[in-house]
Amino acid sequence: MALTLQELNAASPAEALALLDGVYEHSPWIAEQALTERPFRSLAHLKHALASAVRNAPAEAQLALIRAHPELAGKAMVSKALTAESTHEQSTAGLTDCSPDEFARIQKLNQDYNARFGFPFIVAVRGPRGTGLSRSQIIETFARRLENHPDFERAEALRNIHRIAEIRLADKFDAHPKLGNDVWDWHESLARHSDPGYAEQGQLTVTYLTDAHRACAQRISHWMRDCGFDEVEVDAVGNVVGRYHGDTPGAKTLLTGSHYDTVRNGGKYDGRLGIFVPMACVRELHHAGKRLPFAIEVVGFAEEEGQRYKATFLGSGALIGHFNPAWLEQQDADGISMRACMEGAGLCIADIPKLQRDPARYLGFVEVHIEQGPVLNELDLPLGVVTSINGSLRYVGEFIGMACHAGTTPMDRRSDAAAGAAELLLYVERRAAQDGDSVGTVGVLQVPNGSINVVPGRCQFSLDLRAPNDAQRDALGTDVLGELAAIAARRGLQYRIEESMRAAAAPSAPVWQQRWERAVESLGVPVYRIPSGAGHDAMKLHEVMPQAMLFVRGENAGISHNPLESTTNDDMELAVQAFSHVLHQLAEASA
Ligand SMILES: [Zn+2]
Repeated sequence: MALTLQELNAASPAEALALLDGVYEHSPWIAEQALTERPFRSLAHLKHALASAVRNAPAEAQLALIRAHPELAGKAMVSKALTAESTHEQSTAGLTDCSPDEFARIQKLNQDYNARFGFPFIVAVRGPRGTGLSRSQIIETFARRLENHPDFERAEALRNIHRIAEIRLADKFDAHPKLGNDVWDWHESLARHSDPGYAEQGQLTVTYLTDAHRACAQRISHWMRDCGFDEVEVDAVGNVVGRYHGDTPGAKTLLTGSHYDTVRNGGKYDGRLGIFVPMACVRELHHAGKRLPFAIEVVGFAEEEGQRYKATFLGSGALIGHFNPAWLEQQDADGISMRACMEGAGLCIADIPKLQRDPARYLGFVEVHIEQGPVLNELDLPLGVVTSINGSLRYVGEFIGMACHAGTTPMDRRSDAAAGAAELLLYVERRAAQDGDSVGTVGVLQVPNGSINVVPGRCQFSLDLRAPNDAQRDALGTDVLGELAAIAARRGLQYRIEESMRAAAAPSAPVWQQRWERAVESLGVPVYRIPSGAGHDAMKLHEVMPQAMLFVRGENAGISHNPLESTTNDDMELAVQAFSHVLHQLAEASA
């Protein structure tokens, strides 16, 4: 019989401890501490209490927890001395059927890993979908993590332990994330479509209006129809638009969605999560035969990443009337103009102006997105509520000094352009950190025609500065430019600097941000507020209607624009529940 939360909440401390036996390997102290937080409001609440017990424990206790785990395919497995849970996991992952080569490889990795970190390698072998990683995936992960910094790897080991516990709990409570699994599977199916040149290498690349891109649009449209959307169409720029009608004709509409294009060799979840989460919610409504007092419009935006053409946010921009006709004459790397490419795809360019939405007919815009950063992962939190999409400032600049002989020019007679740029870089790092939530990056640093024996006469650099509001962004910019001038004066350098981009911050509409907060709170998960460092489609809609975003934790330190980008079926399930909760709140408010 599956365990229920009511049983766990009502049990005596000793009984409750016994009920959670085996969730964390040989470490009953974790459950013991977490149980002081009873009653649990949800499984997510219980998981968070368990993870917090580990997080707040002294380092030695954390290490003991890691060391309580068996080596992967190690002696304990071979001699059948594992706990029942570990035996099940290691054999499901096929580790008991390793080929002699695989077995030898794993033993070598075990040895190297232990020598480097002093604890056994731990990976949740049932993986982010709960159905199991393949042996080759496990070996790849093992080899990759061997390169991690020891502090990071220790935290990564603990995160894997929490994931193992999460899956063990799902088994105990027979609470498998059905919606999260479906959302996961949609991502997996969609990721089968990838542009030529990348597809062959197993990489995911979907750029504007390629065959793979159009196949994605086709897929999403079909799924939307299956989910019970009343109208589904591919619009004049290639956005896939699904509408689920409200209970009365002419009711206002909630707008949501995100992009389905990707960067080159990107991740499977960036953008797409924001299409599939609301899609799952609409399917639930449709199955229940339920209509809300407002309509829901889910848009899969065709272009956000600006990869094939320099037309970033083309998809969401079209909805606010920002399609730039000059883009049509742009050519891709093969010399194909955007106009030819759109005509070839059967898109009606003349209809693009008609895509502009009338904000008066909309309630607002919400977007679910994978975090694309390490914060939620590090804090063991599945969801984060976005406070603002950071405003940004970009510059390209150059220091100009005097190129001269590296051997004969005394140190006090130099005008070293690269040394000036280095000083500026360190200032940017210091100054951005001072704000707490600003970021500053020198991503390009170049000494043109540099040589090992020449003092750099020129040094080119870029500046990318971001902050949650425009005033903070501008203050950061002013300080950096001031320091640039001061460094040049001190070092006897000339400089030139050119602003290449200025994007306004998009703070979340407070009322909408609060809706996400209430939704997260209702799941029994602590509300965590976070600014978005990356740009999103919500930035465009922000210009005409209130918006707020929800972030979902990314695995692997939140890495994104990378094939390692991932989240889990359980986190996706929570995102669907949070979205449903927002729908429910809106329905109550308009009732
Ligand atoms: Zn994105």
